[in-house]
Amino acid sequence: MSGFRATYGTAPAGTWAAPGRVNLIGEHTDYNDGFVMPFALPQTVRAAARRRDDGLLRLHSAHGDRRTVELDAAELRPEGVTGWARYPAGVVWALAAEGHRVGGADLYFESDVPAGAGLSSSAALECATAAAFRDLWELDLDDTRLALVAQRAENEFVGVPCGIMDQLASVCAQSGHALLLDTRTLAQRQVRLDLDHHGLRLLVVDTRVRHELADGAYAALRSGCEHAARLLGLPALRDLSVAELTGALDQLPSEHRPLVRHVVTENARVADAAAALDAGDAAALGPVLTEGHHSLRDDYRVSCPETDLAVSTAVEAGALGARMTGAGFGGSVIALVPEERTAGVAEAVTAAFAAAGHRAPRTFTATAAAGARRVG
Ligand code: ADP
Ligand code: MG
Repeated sequence: MSGFRATYGTAPAGTWAAPGRVNLIGEHTDYNDGFVMPFALPQTVRAAARRRDDGLLRLHSAHGDRRTVELDAAELRPEGVTGWARYPAGVVWALAAEGHRVGGADLYFESDVPAGAGLSSSAALECATAAAFRDLWELDLDDTRLALVAQRAENEFVGVPCGIMDQLASVCAQSGHALLLDTRTLAQRQVRLDLDHHGLRLLVVDTRVRHELADGAYAALRSGCEHAARLLGLPALRDLSVAELTGALDQLPSEHRPLVRHVVTENARVADAAAALDAGDAAALGPVLTEGHHSLRDDYRVSCPETDLAVSTAVEAGALGARMTGAGFGGSVIALVPEERTAGVAEAVTAAFAAAGHRAPRTFTATAAAGARRVG
């Protein structure tokens, strides 16, 4: 990566890549101890890096403000770092907090993961940093621990109360597979995701909107779910089955009911989606995606006009199913589309956005790629 040499005047010791992800199904379930099924994108954050033994941590992103951030690796504090550098600095801080022997480094980042699009550029940035540090400082850290360190960085250093899905997807995903993950036990299963073989494509529509209420609303939804679980006497909403749902809803104040209904039915949709893929019936995913979107729109209320329009237009134009992906309030939509309709669906969504006066969306087809790795 030529930017490393231009910035630091030497060659990097290596380059590590970590992908963004699409969550196929299982939204707002990860902080309820539930199930998710993301896959990794071919788009990655790349970190070219070189260890330093003088304790200096230097961070530079081709996508940042073009300034090199200089920090003392031994003196990192959440309130001492601002902006994008909190993500990689948080990883170094979290590694030290977990008792790993780490020091300084020079890091230079490049990325083709759209930032703030619900495709988890933040986890990709953290996991590329964590993978680089694991090798540079020869840390004894398996992939799951590496993802947990990255999550700790985002939770405690950046201050975003995210679950573990994004980081585990970025580290543990395998090419050609979705990652079926039990976020309580962290048990994982690779589920074959070979849409090409079925004449299908997964179209991603980045709406390029991010509504400001996202952060506060996320925390409120999370605490609403935790409160509902407490009222029901359950460790988490994961412990409620679809069969028990109606009886449980009767016991809850009305404001909690839609949240609980979404989480319980969404966990069931993850199981349905995995069963469809296991059975070689990828087309059966379509209705599961659309049902998931309706649940996010009507019960969880995290969709927005742009994501709703992308979903309804995609389905009208021939998608087998579509849903918003990521936490919501903007971000991206995925649509499962027969190969021959892919261009038509993308054009229909773009035209509908223009007609509604929305900014032009970005569309691309996603394939399931590999998790974090050394690339140079
Ligand atoms: P998402 O994870 O959905 O992309 P987030 O808001 O969680 O959205 O994370 C986006 C933030 O991550 C950006 O605002 C920026 O601070 C940081 N980020 C992501 N990619 C890069 C990059 N290549 N260089 C610098 N910062 C980045
Ligand atoms: Mg993020």
